[in-house]
Amino acid sequence: MMKFHILTLFPEMVQQGLATSILGRAAEKDLISIDAVNIRDYTQDKHGKVDDYTYGGGAGMLMQAQPVYDAWKAVAKPAEGKKPVRVLFMSPQGKTFSQEMAKELAQEEELIFLCGHYEGIDERVIEEIVTDPVSIGDYVLTGGELPAMVMIDAISRMVPGVLKNEDSGVTESFQENLLEYPQYSRPEEWHGKKVPEVLLSGNHKKINAWRLEQSERRTEERRPDLYAKYQEKQKVIKKLSAKKRIF
Ligand code: SAM
Repeated sequence: MMKFHILTLFPEMVQQGLATSILGRAAEKDLISIDAVNIRDYTQDKHGKVDDYTYGGGAGMLMQAQPVYDAWKAVAKPAEGKKPVRVLFMSPQGKTFSQEMAKELAQEEELIFLCGHYEGIDERVIEEIVTDPVSIGDYVLTGGELPAMVMIDAISRMVPGVLKNEDSGVTESFQENLLEYPQYSRPEEWHGKKVPEVLLSGNHKKINAWRLEQSERRTEERRPDLYAKYQEKQKVIKKLSAKKRIF
């Protein structure tokens, strides 16, 4: 089972957001578990305060180190000889999240997501507990809850058994640096548009060739950056198979 712990000031947002559809079913089947931890429960402040003004001035409030640290300690249970649990800090300053990262993170058994809010979190606690700062893109959100949900969704899809059809994770966009081909369902004609003939042919060799060609064309048009990577990889594969033939 893949365990996700989310340190947040708004646990209900995460818990509710991840409780439906495919992820809800995965949690019911114990393939994943979602443990949203309220940082506020760990504050030592009499009035339940978790944030304060920033030193040096500036707009907005900052989440303080103590409650974040104690919430982390309660979840991570750091101990000598115990494998430390990776702590992903949701931050616009982190490395941009990708399908590749989702695949890599899905190899872990347990992950902690740290969600900032307001102006963010006191730098000192970030230095002490964070292993991976991660961003979901070059824009600023009000909190780390949505980014954590985005990442948990993408990572969960890589956990065996979560998707009904194991194949669907393999043929999708970004696999081999290609975007997915267009897809069609019933009826055969809609608004005067017909499903491409080849898909009705039953000839799987032809269908696969058509899909690959569509994927390549799409990627070249929409994501020339990905297409360049794809072409580079194809060149290496060609070279390697030519070498094999010589030896
Ligand atoms: N002052 C911070 C800065 O410039 O780096 C931004 C704070 S932001 C308003 C509040 C919180 O939202 C952050 O601590 C982070 O957890 C989350 N957040 C905002 N944008 C994000 C993004 N693109 N990716 C991941 N987390 C983000």
